[in-house]
Amino acid sequence: MKLNVDVLRYLSKDDFRVLTAVEMGMRNHEIVPTELIDRIASLKHGGTYKVLKNLLKHKLLHHDSSKYDGFRLTYLGYDFLAIKTMVNRGVFAAVGRQIGVGKESDIFEVATEDGTVLAMKLHRLGRISFRAVKSKRDYLRHRSSYNWLYLSRLAGLKEFAFMKALEEHGFPVPKAVDCNRHCVVMSLVQGYPLVQVKQLQNPETVFETILGLVVRLAEHGLIHCDFNEFNIMIDDDEKVTMIDFPQMVSVSHRNAQMYFDRDVECIFKFFGKRFNLSFKEDTDENDGLEVDSDENGRPTFSSISKSAGFLDRELAASGFSRKDQDDIEKFIEGGIEKDRNSDSEGTEDEENESESNETINRTLDTLHLLEKEEHSSNSVEDGKVDENQQSCE
Ligand code: ADP
Ligand code: MG
Repeated sequence: MKLNVDVLRYLSKDDFRVLTAVEMGMRNHEIVPTELIDRIASLKHGGTYKVLKNLLKHKLLHHDSSKYDGFRLTYLGYDFLAIKTMVNRGVFAAVGRQIGVGKESDIFEVATEDGTVLAMKLHRLGRISFRAVKSKRDYLRHRSSYNWLYLSRLAGLKEFAFMKALEEHGFPVPKAVDCNRHCVVMSLVQGYPLVQVKQLQNPETVFETILGLVVRLAEHGLIHCDFNEFNIMIDDDEKVTMIDFPQMVSVSHRNAQMYFDRDVECIFKFFGKRFNLSFKEDTDENDGLEVDSDENGRPTFSSISKSAGFLDRELAASGFSRKDQDDIEKFIEGGIEKDRNSDSEGTEDEENESESNETINRTLDTLHLLEKEEHSSNSVEDGKVDENQQSCE
């Protein structure tokens, strides 16, 4: 998805005020009645309709008059609200090139005022799996059009909370910088997704490190659930960083064993195929791990001593509640199943797509400097519009 942030420069305070009013209205309206937007925004000098037309022109809103006259946010509109908040907070000052298109996200480079380059992930939960899942799921069917907003925000919040907690426990993850709405800002990982790596100096060592991570995660009460060559980054020194956490579950999840085995299997399969590692019982490959292995050399879930509770205690402290976890799990499980079912066909495509990313030049060529407003006075006394709302701090 194209993200032309130039438009941001031309948006006025009133534009953002009305955009925020639509967002607020979407808490309980799929399509927010124009008249309600006008009331929430309560522009000093009126003119809501003109502003709405401008926002519509820039594709930040979608107009719907099928039942009554109203508007809803588009992804772009939601992106702009989050980006604007980040810029106002001083998290970054410029948005650069797109560096990744995931199944459920778009990733961009962003730059701080002092030129440090970070990664910004905009969650799009529901972009692909949602369509497939919603027809089967009653609880989403009636809330379908505005659920992406809620789910994408939850995914962002979850990713941020997990990244922080994992970092504190010494896991190799990007440094979590900030999050707002569906947008997570983190350190930029040097290196490439493992799927793009054709050769390694020490494939056995890298394999052991990666397998060790799956086991250590379980010891901390967690399962990644999408632990594969797309979500493991590797740099020139063969240092491993894991990314992409919205689908993680607790080891107390009812399908924990299956998810764990699947993560393990992915790693074995990939290393077997790409680097010709062979595994059999009592190989040296996972000797470094203090867990039992099955007859194929796979670590067994039951032999890992797990400290469940990590999720509840530490993540709740970061603002991600048990209910949030339940909500997102209900949705994601359907998505994971669907993705896995189409695994064999999907892999080739994904590989091609990722390989074209290999040519991405990581220098920032065009920086679109965003104007930083001196006064972020969009928030008003009576709490009608607060553009910095939904912070995850
Ligand atoms: P999705 O959930 O959509 O799969 P990911 O978090 O896996 O999203 O990111 C998609 C791609 O973006 C990754 O494969 C990687 O190439 C790139 N990417 C994500 N996070 C970073 C980061 N912090 N630094 C550098 N590249 C990143
Ligand atoms: Mg991913």
